[in-house]
Amino acid sequence: MIIVCNKNASTKSVDELVKRLEEVAQTHISKGENSIVIGLVGDTSKLDPEDIKAYPIVEKVQRVSEPFKLANRKFHEADTVIDIGGVKIGGGDFAVMAGPCSVETEEQIVYTAKMVKQSGAKILRGGAFKPRTSPYAFRGLKAEGIRLLEIAKKETGLPIVTELMSLDHLEYFENVDIIQIGARNMQNFEMLSEIGQINKPILLKRGLANTIEEWLMSAEYIMANGNENVILCERGIRTFETALRNTYDLACVPYMKALTHLPIIGDPSHATGKARLVRPLARATKAVGADGLMIEVHPNPAKALCDGAQSVTPEEFELIMQEL
Ligand code: PEP
Ligand code: MN
Repeated sequence: MIIVCNKNASTKSVDELVKRLEEVAQTHISKGENSIVIGLVGDTSKLDPEDIKAYPIVEKVQRVSEPFKLANRKFHEADTVIDIGGVKIGGGDFAVMAGPCSVETEEQIVYTAKMVKQSGAKILRGGAFKPRTSPYAFRGLKAEGIRLLEIAKKETGLPIVTELMSLDHLEYFENVDIIQIGARNMQNFEMLSEIGQINKPILLKRGLANTIEEWLMSAEYIMANGNENVILCERGIRTFETALRNTYDLACVPYMKALTHLPIIGDPSHATGKARLVRPLARATKAVGADGLMIEVHPNPAKALCDGAQSVTPEEFELIMQEL
């Protein structure tokens, strides 16, 4: 971290700041003609640049290293590989999670599970607690939805991933293999801290309007509480473009591979909102080096209770898998 102070700062006020900084890291001071520069070396992750800016003599604070530590590849070179009962995500293992946006009936989820398994999906997805923009929309079967997912898991052997919307619902997640934290809860810091204390892989989706750094800081929240099994999922972000549901930030995948050792998957369904775009973007996601995909599959998209327009049929899913 580099801190630039006003050249007229008194020795007393500089000393005061240096004393505070030395509580966390080593300082190096250089006095130039136009400013006084304090260089900080060591672990500065616990320092908030905004707090330092509160000193009146400070003109600028610049980070030179990332504020996340546990998720940082600099301190953990090898890829993290998440193992879910033999299904691996990360470190060169490509895993596809597929299933409907929402669990609707036993027949729907069991049939979809069998179909996606046949095509090569390794994990079954299905929403039970659904985040919906309108309170009048279908908000999922809730606990009953998880029970139906468990039936599909028993019938197919596929591990299951489903979204947690409230810590009050944790009791239903005992047999869930991966807990999804959806885009809308990416910065629910209480929730992140709590699930950091659980021993289950977490699928952390990127927030609708969150930067890569904010996303990694959310992963850091989970990891700092003890759970290092975090899978990141790029699902599109809000931009000025309105033609598609979101803007699929695929560049973030290879970019983040250098920043973090955590596995990253892509979700072309939520990223585009259009079923016909899922196939080309599934190819693209794999091509840029992602560790897997999440794809919404519904036996009858036109009748889906949620996200039908972006859901592919089991037959289209089969083609996508062959192509991958
Ligand atoms: C979902 O996976 O069904 C979902 C709601 O995703 P997101 O949080 O990315 O919108
Ligand atoms: Mn959905």
